[in-house]
Amino acid sequence: MLPPVYMDCNATVPMRPAVAEAMAAALELVGNPSSVHRFGRLARARVEEARGKVAALVGADAGEVTFTSGGTEANNLALAGAGRERRLVSAIEHVSVLQAAACELVPVGADGVIHLEALRSLLAGDPRPALVSLMLANNETGAIQPVAEAAAIAHEHGALLHCDAVQAAGRIPVDMRRLGADLMTVSAHKLGGPQGCGALAVAAHVPLAAMIRGGGQERGRRAGTENLPAIVGFGVAAELAAGALGEQAALATLRNGLEARVLVHRGVRVFAAAAPRLPNTSCFATPGLESATQVMALDLAGIAVSAGSACSSGKVAASHVLRAMGAGAEAGWAIRVSLGWQSESSHIDRFVEAWQRLLARRAA
Ligand code: PLP
Repeated sequence: MLPPVYMDCNATVPMRPAVAEAMAAALELVGNPSSVHRFGRLARARVEEARGKVAALVGADAGEVTFTSGGTEANNLALAGAGRERRLVSAIEHVSVLQAAACELVPVGADGVIHLEALRSLLAGDPRPALVSLMLANNETGAIQPVAEAAAIAHEHGALLHCDAVQAAGRIPVDMRRLGADLMTVSAHKLGGPQGCGALAVAAHVPLAAMIRGGGQERGRRAGTENLPAIVGFGVAAELAAGALGEQAALATLRNGLEARVLVHRGVRVFAAAAPRLPNTSCFATPGLESATQVMALDLAGIAVSAGSACSSGKVAASHVLRAMGAGAEAGWAIRVSLGWQSESSHIDRFVEAWQRLLARRAA
């Protein structure tokens, strides 16, 4: 029996060994980061060291970073805490943006990229203070969004721009200032860090109201004793991911090789193929082959992929992202393969062989 192959890194990335080691060491620390004695000061120093590393990953200042329980909380904090009356969000945002507050949707094209002109006219059509939320890269298709252009449009209209960079950070260079983002979300477990830890970077000029109150932690932006081992792990993961950006080209080669081999089969469609995409992500539909059937058959063959967004599911629901791109029945035939630091070319071979066996069984 060959070992199972994990190809679902947009759901979560295997923890990097150095992260696990740093977290194990942090579990031995005694102090509460808010305590004034030496134990507390040591714990505080570890939190601040991690904050600096997370800030460096996204081009923020350390003082702009607020640790949260993950990307979901950071997105909720951004949408609720920015205090803007209108929230304009792209139709392909993660549900933690779409369901954080009442939102107006900005459409995307068939390529999975936001319509900037639609954003412009929505902003021009209503003078109330607005927040625009646009992800840097989509979790299902990998499509990279024109965040800098959207930020410029938002600012022309006096709006703020929040960017969910959960899938982009560690996969493409991310610089909050160059993008013009006023708020930015990141999550540790998409970078090889622990689950249940993330951050919202908030530019110094943006006032933000806390969502969780009852303590002065995180400069009053997020009450509660910090999750020290997770934050330490997040810092190490952020540093490693920033240093390993050069490895992403090799992942793109693996991904492109996989796509070349599946596209040989008639009718296969790769979503967002016409857009700039994350190097690690491929989302494709095979006519008549249900997503759930593929995911289950591949799992039986020892290969883990997902059907569209699997963040919280276990159930397979029609993808709002693919539907927003105009996909009909194809949305029900899509699977997502997403690679990470542990991926190698033998994994691609295993995937393609198992997937071809599935196609052959259907044809028989
Ligand atoms: N934003 C995007 C684009 C995501 O893909 C995810 C998770 O898949 C999240 C936010 C939520 O992050 P977390 O799992 O840390 O809550």
